Amino acid sequence: MNAEIISVGTELLLGAVVNTDAALVARALSGLGINLLHTCVVGDNPKRLKEAIETGLSRSGLLVMTGGLGPTTDDLTKETAAAAAGKKLCLHQPSLERIQSYFNEKQVSINQEKQAWLPEGCHVLQNDNGTAPGCAFQAENGSTILMLPGPPSELEPMLLHYAVPYLKQRQEFTIVSHNVRIYGRGEAPVAQMMDDLMNGENPTLAPYANEGECYLRVTAKAHSQQEADALCQPLIQEIKNRLGGFVYGVDVDSLEALVVQLLAGQGKTLATAESCTGGLLSKRLTDVAGSSQVFHMGVVTYANQAKEQLLGVPRQVLEAHGAVSPETARAMAQGIVRASGSHLGIGITGIAGPQGGTAEKPVGLIYIALSDGKDTWVVKRSPIGRTKSRDWHRHCAASQALDMVRRYLTGLPVVAE
Ligand code: ATP
Repeated sequence: MNAEIISVGTELLLGAVVNTDAALVARALSGLGINLLHTCVVGDNPKRLKEAIETGLSRSGLLVMTGGLGPTTDDLTKETAAAAAGKKLCLHQPSLERIQSYFNEKQVSINQEKQAWLPEGCHVLQNDNGTAPGCAFQAENGSTILMLPGPPSELEPMLLHYAVPYLKQRQEFTIVSHNVRIYGRGEAPVAQMMDDLMNGENPTLAPYANEGECYLRVTAKAHSQQEADALCQPLIQEIKNRLGGFVYGVDVDSLEALVVQLLAGQGKTLATAESCTGGLLSKRLTDVAGSSQVFHMGVVTYANQAKEQLLGVPRQVLEAHGAVSPETARAMAQGIVRASGSHLGIGITGIAGPQGGTAEKPVGLIYIALSDGKDTWVVKRSPIGRTKSRDWHRHCAASQALDMVRRYLTGLPVVAE
């Protein structure tokens, strides 16, 4: 089935509101294996909305409409869609009662009551976080129209709890996707290595790049979840065979989530000493629920004096090699292990830019060290290709540090070839 999203709201056309609803719906459709072929934004204008619905109905089996279900006069989605689909609106008593209890009174205004008038015979999607119910119904040509409220705080739970199960139950096939997450190999070389696997039809394989990492999505279609999953597994295994330790997980949330889980599983603790990343690594670690069990402390030592005083980086090292050097990164990692008493310590020092680079030490040059108090490993990240942003360099340096910890804890060489 091919789908289309119609987002309704003049504020979207003015750029006053970002169309996050469309992204939420697009993700849910992709998870269901429904092909989304068009998205469209229309203002609160009945004529143009009618045209958009008619165009949508002529080319898509599923129209998902967001916004314009509320009580005000510019909320026209339901009326316009019902008319275009040849349906009358009828009062849906349970929705009216929900609205009454939402306002805690028997008598609600005409405007509020308007929200309980829904296309005849529709499947009602309850709004647990607001007043306007959503609904789904069939147009005369057999296409399905699904309507969801505009506020993301109402749309998202309705989508996940009611709309997705509704769509799932009407699908003949189940789609299962698995994301094979990769660190240390880019999208292009990975795609090249998997070239002969890319033409499969069931399962399919597609590469994606994501903030200095990449992942391969394996998707299969079958009559049951188990059958679809069984189709995916041999391909996932083949990817792992080809990429070895560059695969850091299947369906894991992030490198930081995996690192916290590995540390917790092994009863180990970690501390960080950051310079150019300014605390980003400790932020990413502490974003993970449960990180307090494994993350001991993080310091941001920007000035040389702080590196000396807090971490014990020898002045001679700073003077002889500079703050951005493998020697300083090494001494920072060792220093934070000493200062914190953690099992593992990370030291990061580099030039995030945009200023501060020289021919010898350009923007993007970053050293990342991992120490276990006995051995210390250092990775050098050098800038390649076009100039990248400060945020990019910082994010990639933090990811590199996380990957070193992941490699250490899984018995891989800490520094990948
Ligand atoms: P309400 O009951 O609040 O009127 P509604 O279904 O009529 O709900 P709209 O009036 O279209 O929704 O939008 C209400 C608010 O929801 C907008 O002001 C905006 O903040 C947010 N919103 C609407 N559409 C989108 C969208 N596509 N993406 C993100 N936010 C949206």
